Amino acid sequence: MPLPHFEYVAARTVGEALDLWRERPACAYFAGGTDLLPQMRLGRRAPATIIDIKGVGGLDRIRETEAGLVIGAAVPLAVIETDPVVRADFPLLAECARVVGARPLRNRATLVGNICNASPAADTAVALLVLDGLVRTVGADGARELPVNEFFTGPGRTLLRPGELVTEVVLPRAAVWRGSYLRLSRRRGMDLATVGVLVACSNGASPPRYRIALSAVAPVPLRVRDAEALLDAEGAGGAGGHGWAATIGRAAEIARASCSPITDMRGTAEYRRDMVGVLVARGAAALAQAWVW
Ligand SMILES: Cc1cc2nc3c(=O)[nH]c(=O)nc-3n(C[C@H](O)[C@H](O)[C@H](O)COP(=O)(O)OP(=O)(O)OC[C@H]3O[C@@H](n4cnc5c(N)ncnc54)[C@H](O)[C@@H]3O)c2cc1C
Repeated sequence: MPLPHFEYVAARTVGEALDLWRERPACAYFAGGTDLLPQMRLGRRAPATIIDIKGVGGLDRIRETEAGLVIGAAVPLAVIETDPVVRADFPLLAECARVVGARPLRNRATLVGNICNASPAADTAVALLVLDGLVRTVGADGARELPVNEFFTGPGRTLLRPGELVTEVVLPRAAVWRGSYLRLSRRRGMDLATVGVLVACSNGASPPRYRIALSAVAPVPLRVRDAEALLDAEGAGGAGGHGWAATIGRAAEIARASCSPITDMRGTAEYRRDMVGVLVARGAAALAQAWVW
């Protein structure tokens, strides 16, 4: 389908973006456009005006601050996945960014667009959940800082208010989390996840702490805190020892029970639920093998 008619305006400052939104009746912010334009083409969105924020000063940078590493809303995923600081200190985000679509898409698509679109299958969301990311916004009511762990409220829905602009994402430097994002999709490169499971451990901490996040198996990407607590409690004496396989099995069962997948063209609810169990067990076992405790 052809794109509907719309007005295109480019903002140069955050204030200008907010003003443009206020002045016009039906707007959408536009970063990479890789979600917005296909949705407009399919008739699911019909903004009269799109406000391009890619050129807004200051939003195109990754910078170090006291609060943590700050990633601007206009930074493309291709920059994030190759950034040396992200790769060294937030490797889970680099890994999740790298599996979004193919390289040409990631040259345009942004991290902030990925979470604002709020697909249950958003690949970077699981990394931000595990890393306790924060979303900084500005809007008519001023500035806000929202935990990513509370940001998603349903498919395509977030805590963002009308006209509120996300300016950056903050990654607090509490710990270095390592692990792997196990993702099943129908084909590599250009398909959303059918199931995504991120299992991570902060091996700098003593005792180790665990985190598990799931994508594409519930209305929103989610953490499985009961399974994390079980691994934390039973891994305290040293994971990989006697009984650890049974603990992993119980954690996998908790994760399986805590998701609520749907059946769609990518897979059935039963398949997705079963794969959550399999991938959580696989991810946790791989962590135990990867490190000497
Ligand atoms: C072929 C193809 C393959 C894809 N594969 C994947 C995949 O494997 N994994 C995956 O997770 N996604 C995938 N996607 C979806 C998409 O590419 C990502 O979600 C991408 O990160 C969106 O970023 P963007 O900058 O293009 O967002 P945009 O399309 O510009 O925006 C997305 C939404 O966020 C809003 N928005 C953008 N910036 C802001 C802001 N600063 N403040 C407030 N609202 C804002 C927009 O108004 C819009 O509603 C794919 C898309 C395509 C077309």
